[in-house]
Amino acid sequence: MSVQAKEISQLHEEKSNPLQEFQQHLREVCELLQYSEAVYDLLKEPLRFFKVRIPVRMDDGTTQVFTGYRAQHNDAVGPTKGGIRFHPGVTADEVKALAGWMSLKCGIADLPYGGGKGGVICDPRQMSTGELERLSRGYVRAISQIVGPTKDIPAPDVFTNPQIMAWMMDEYSEIREFESPGFITGKPLVLGGSVGRETATSKGLYHIYNLITRMKGIPVREARVIIQGFGNVGSYLANFLHEQGARVVGIGDANGAIYKESGLDIPSLLDRRDSFGTVTHLFTDKISNQELLEKPCDILIPAALGRQITKDNAARLGCKIVIEAANGPTTAEAESILEERGIVVVPDILANSGGVIVSYFEWVQNNQGFYWDSATIDKLLQEKMEQSFRKAVETSQQYGVSMRKAVYMVAVKRLAEAAYVRGWVQ
Ligand code: GLU
Repeated sequence: MSVQAKEISQLHEEKSNPLQEFQQHLREVCELLQYSEAVYDLLKEPLRFFKVRIPVRMDDGTTQVFTGYRAQHNDAVGPTKGGIRFHPGVTADEVKALAGWMSLKCGIADLPYGGGKGGVICDPRQMSTGELERLSRGYVRAISQIVGPTKDIPAPDVFTNPQIMAWMMDEYSEIREFESPGFITGKPLVLGGSVGRETATSKGLYHIYNLITRMKGIPVREARVIIQGFGNVGSYLANFLHEQGARVVGIGDANGAIYKESGLDIPSLLDRRDSFGTVTHLFTDKISNQELLEKPCDILIPAALGRQITKDNAARLGCKIVIEAANGPTTAEAESILEERGIVVVPDILANSGGVIVSYFEWVQNNQGFYWDSATIDKLLQEKMEQSFRKAVETSQQYGVSMRKAVYMVAVKRLAEAAYVRGWVQ
């Protein structure tokens, strides 16, 4: 790992602990639901957590050993499910928290899965295609005993994509000696991927955007939107919103951000962005990502990495609503400040669940060997997003809690019930 990567990872570890925040919310919800300590104890950490070391032959002939993780949070409801991220900032606690959040996403969306998550500490932006392929295959060899179409089903996440899923599926099929498309989702179409998977997270967010703006009486055409992140999720979402007539006034990427009160030319930005979703380096009037978050808008959509909205900037955000497209972009302390300021947060575990929902459709299609058209996928996704949104709003009103806590309540109830009937807890 480069020094810079090490610094990012240490910074991440020192400044934040997403796992503690997951546990804090879980504790509060278990108390509200009057569950025994055993339920909290069962769900506070993944049931299984693996650390692997992956030797990879680099292009210059040297060998680099990468560290990777796979967490399986809970399989009371069904096999575990969740993406694999390739990023220098990956930490063990982050992967554990992300797996827990996947259990909640599957719970609110009523999918027959528990949560899983994987991560490899690496910087794909500094690696060649050959190195990335060898790392992807090496990771699958390292975890092949514990994953599978009925055990734990990976998918894309930060800096992984359909090509990486294809290598992983191919490696798994080689090891198992049979064709296993249902081992992983987010594959290219030709290998059993689903239509609509690539845009699924953004489409789901787009439905959530429409539901929350309607609920809050914000007219679509007048809404000013800022999207931090211009990768797979942020760029498709910017396009959907732009096509609908919303004014996307700001976007950010790994190099900085751009903001224009009258609205950005999204189609031209999409044309000019590179494969890692960066475009702002082409502009001279760039601002920083932190400045972007504080610019005036109606809807702020963090669609990059976690821990962007913190206690240090929450008081200065210029938005009315936050829709979390990234996983874990708002810290618990920041959320309390936003709540006091009357800013509504639509949590990641609801807002970005479109990805895993269409992953589920992909897995069902792989299992049945019959494939649906895009109209069917679109309709099923919209129904799922609307049902989840309704459930979250109803529960939040019934118990007087935030939407995040409402989602925890719905999902934890389901996990606890499954664990109870299995005889795992009394
Ligand atoms: N990585 C995505 C997420 O965080 C998708 C997971 C999946 O499709 O299984 O929800």
